[in-house]
Amino acid sequence: MDLHWSFLLVPLIIGYFAWIPGYGMNWIAASWWTTIAVLLFSFVLLHELGHALAAQNRGVKAERIILFPLGGGAYLPEQPSNVWEEVFVYAAGPLANIILALLAWGLLLTRPDGPLLIAYYLKLSGNLVVFPGIADQILGLTLAVNLLLAIGNLLPAYPLDGGRILRALLRRPLGARRATVIVTGLGVVIGSGLAWLGVRLSDPLLVFGAGFIILLSVLEYQNGWQRRRLANKAVGDVLRLPLPSLYRVYPGQPVGEVRRFFQATEWPILPVYNQWNEQVGFVEASVINEEAEDDREPVRRYCEREFVTAQPTEELLAITERIVDANVYGATIIGPRGELVGYVFTEDIMPLLDTRLKKIKRRLRQEGPAGE
Ligand SMILES: [Zn+2]
Repeated sequence: MDLHWSFLLVPLIIGYFAWIPGYGMNWIAASWWTTIAVLLFSFVLLHELGHALAAQNRGVKAERIILFPLGGGAYLPEQPSNVWEEVFVYAAGPLANIILALLAWGLLLTRPDGPLLIAYYLKLSGNLVVFPGIADQILGLTLAVNLLLAIGNLLPAYPLDGGRILRALLRRPLGARRATVIVTGLGVVIGSGLAWLGVRLSDPLLVFGAGFIILLSVLEYQNGWQRRRLANKAVGDVLRLPLPSLYRVYPGQPVGEVRRFFQATEWPILPVYNQWNEQVGFVEASVINEEAEDDREPVRRYCEREFVTAQPTEELLAITERIVDANVYGATIIGPRGELVGYVFTEDIMPLLDTRLKKIKRRLRQEGPAGE
């Protein structure tokens, strides 16, 4: 589980709200805001644990959980095979919040002014006629915040849990592509509605969250487009055949020589070999150009030791996903008898993803004004 760096902002925000100019820090306010921050954090954590436990229960591995101050994300590297399993995993987060809200509701009902407090915290009645103690306030917040988390996350908009549930349900009747178009479209519509509401209520957090929903929906929509483009392409469309052994890069070779290889071959990336002529990684021209200063220095420091391998019969989409997941420059394509077939580089895949507009723009730039 990872805490996102933006958690560092939380003490600053608390300090900002508890600081009174001319007086100094109001420690009572600061400790109250800290209590609230810890409570919010534990509600979000509980939500994510709900997802993680459900995934574990269904035999799907939740790779990691990232917690942001305003929410979290559980990343599922493998999609559950069954629709209902997927729905269960995504519903488990909001369900955990609903259970906690019901618990707080039950406890509040046992308090003397319970029903009044419930009405106040759910904003069914505007003015509070009782003065709740700290325990009552915490119970009231637990009820209100968990209900808000559950309802907010169940909105049928990508990337919220509700949107992912809807996509899982629509995938079989409509197909994966249409299901994604619908939930990302809902993400833009609902996100815009929430942004409008946030402006009306002058709530910057709501505007920010709504912007996030719109942005992620647009990105996921584009991602779906790109997958479709790649699905029509074969490895042969972007394959680079092996270079003559003259251009083999070894870790001990001086940077200056590797620079000349890049110029001679015009390749953006070159494979790096060990003394037994087995590939051990890649080296990228832009890294050498930007970072290397001394041409006599061995190139070792600038080599990327990780690379992925693929077979020539694999789909380009699958290979691309592996390259992106491993965060490397490219894949080495190895044939059925272990022979080197060639390379697939991200730089060669990107042009396949370009929209027609981008292609026209690039052509205009390349042709450019005469004499350039
Ligand atoms: Zn969730």
